[in-house]
Amino acid sequence: MSTAEGCLFCRIVAGELAADIVATTDAAIAFRDINPQAPVHVLVVPREHHVDVAQLAASDPALLAAVIGLAGQVAGSEGDGQFRLVFNTGPEAGQSVFHVHAHLLAGARLGWTPA
Ligand code: IMP
Repeated sequence: MSTAEGCLFCRIVAGELAADIVATTDAAIAFRDINPQAPVHVLVVPREHHVDVAQLAASDPALLAAVIGLAGQVAGSEGDGQFRLVFNTGPEAGQSVFHVHAHLLAGARLGWTPA
C-alpha cells in the first residue's frame, strides 16, 4: 500500500497517532475532525495515500467510491442519513492536509456560504 513519509493521515491510518475512529473498512477509515464545524464532522480517508480527490478519481475510482460509501454509512450511524461531503482540493480551496479526505458534515441545518 502506498504511504507518504510524514503524512499526518497516513500516521493515523497506521495507528501511530491517536484519532477518534468511528468506522473502518479494508479500504478506508473514518475519524472525528479535531476542530468540528458541525455537530457531526467526520473525516473519511482511504488507507492508501493519495494527495487529493482529483488524483484519486483519476488513479483509483473504485477507492473513491469506497470512501464515499463509508461516508454514507457513517452519516446513517451518526445521524439521520442527510449529510454534506466536502473535498477541499488545493490550498486556495482550503486543503491543508494533502492526503485526500472527505469532510462529512451533518447533524444540523447547514448554511451555504463557502466564499
Ligand atoms: P483540510 O483543511 O480540508 O485539508 O482539512 C483538514 C482537516 O483535518 C481540518 O478540518 C482539521 O481540523 C483536521 N485535522 C487536522 N489534524 C487532525 C487530527 O490529528 N485528527 C483529526 N482531524 C485533524
